[in-house]
Amino acid sequence: CCVLNEDGKIYFLHGSRGKRSILGSKCTSASLCRVVMEGLLTRCRALPALATCNHQLSGYIPRRFPHCAPGRGKRLVLSCMFQPQNLREDQVLPVEGRSGDLTCKSQRLMLQVGLIHPASSGCYHLLPYTVRAMEKLVRVIDQEMQAIGGQKVNMPSLSPAELWRASNRWDLMGRELLRLRDRHGKEYCLGPTHEEAITALVASQKTLSYKQLPFLLYQVTRKFRDEPRPRFGLLRGREFYMKDMYTFDSSPEAARQTYSLVCDAYSSLFDRLGLRCVKVQADVGSIGGTMSHEFQLPVEIGEDRFAVCTSCSFSANVETLGSSQMNCPACQGPLTETRGIEVGHTFYLGTKYSSIFNAQFINIHGKPSLAEMGCYGLGVTRILAAAIEVLSTEDCVRWPSLLAPYQVCLIPPKKGSKEEAAAELTGQLYDHISEAVPQLRGEILLDDRTHLTIGNRLKDANKFGYPFVIIAGKRALEDPAHFEVWCQNTSEVVFLTKEAVIELLSHVQVV
Ligand SMILES: [Zn+2]
Repeated sequence: CCVLNEDGKIYFLHGSRGKRSILGSKCTSASLCRVVMEGLLTRCRALPALATCNHQLSGYIPRRFPHCAPGRGKRLVLSCMFQPQNLREDQVLPVEGRSGDLTCKSQRLMLQVGLIHPASSGCYHLLPYTVRAMEKLVRVIDQEMQAIGGQKVNMPSLSPAELWRASNRWDLMGRELLRLRDRHGKEYCLGPTHEEAITALVASQKTLSYKQLPFLLYQVTRKFRDEPRPRFGLLRGREFYMKDMYTFDSSPEAARQTYSLVCDAYSSLFDRLGLRCVKVQADVGSIGGTMSHEFQLPVEIGEDRFAVCTSCSFSANVETLGSSQMNCPACQGPLTETRGIEVGHTFYLGTKYSSIFNAQFINIHGKPSLAEMGCYGLGVTRILAAAIEVLSTEDCVRWPSLLAPYQVCLIPPKKGSKEEAAAELTGQLYDHISEAVPQLRGEILLDDRTHLTIGNRLKDANKFGYPFVIIAGKRALEDPAHFEVWCQNTSEVVFLTKEAVIELLSHVQVV
């Protein structure tokens, strides 16, 4: 009588026409079945791995449980992943356009390994591994933004032209703005950024007091930019995910404090991801304002150029320096130029937008006063691709450990091999890890393609970049069994007993 819906909620089915109602809604059948449902819910709560069940989007719950061992979800097996299985290097996926368009390592690897699939120029399908990594990245971002008081909102992508006309950016943004009309002839753009929308939203709240400020409002949503030359895969696309935060303060001093608070949160985020970003002075561009910084990830293929002083902490995008400037404006020391990928950008806006939309608050003297604003972007899909660009080898994807789509890959012996008897041990190890290391539930994949040799599957596991690859080879038949553990991030290979494997994995951080 109940069904697990795609949204993760449990619904009652009643009547013969598939009518549904959500648990807790005013449904008479619901109260009839309440006891049954509560039992079911309790079991679901005890089962975080439920979400990793292979057939999670289909069928009735009662049918789901018989093939899951009691108390745990069904093991995640690689052969059932929606994931191109052809990882041998002689089988490279076709890519969009001319072969010359494959312009960087991250794009090539992400296509080859099946992390993304081309949809149209500058647009990609994000495949399951990438979505998992992105969801993890968003969780880290949420933690950092909420740690400084950020509140998450979600604004429509469809943004009415009049907002953009008010700020004059309908014309200023030129052809990068993706514009469209609805059936009534009303004009819109697909938002590349949301200064206008958020300022109008805050302006609509007429009774804000200085006591409530600052507001740090952010969202993680799809953004659109009609790039003349989309390239480098997710690094420069036409549709991408961005985290954009907008802050509202009661004074310039407070706004500057908020500005450095957000910059520090960005630094902390990149530290946690193990990405060595450089904060550089930047041009305010079409966003406007009086102060701006970029967070640049140094890498050869980067499209931005920035200068770093070798003797002090000064660094700036070369756009902000005179073309002939060779010396540091702060200490006259020599400047060296580096290429980078812009992964974050911050702007101190002042009242540029609040004055247009009249975003006011009541100040300490009881008078209306314009909010001091800042805006802060992080390229979410771009950070993923940029991380892969700087961390990966030529042939193998490497992730920031926190973002790896799955933390552990288990490789049982080949069917018909001398070690085949160890196959069952691998399954047991899977269950033991899930039980003993709760944070790894849903993070372990079993490479059940046992028609392939261990060597071939290890090669594939290497390409995917699982932080831990655990093989049941010859030594798994010893007493006690020893598993071969490849630790990607330290490039170590060790032989460990089941207990030692669990001890090792219990330290893994999962977000
Ligand atoms: Zn200097």
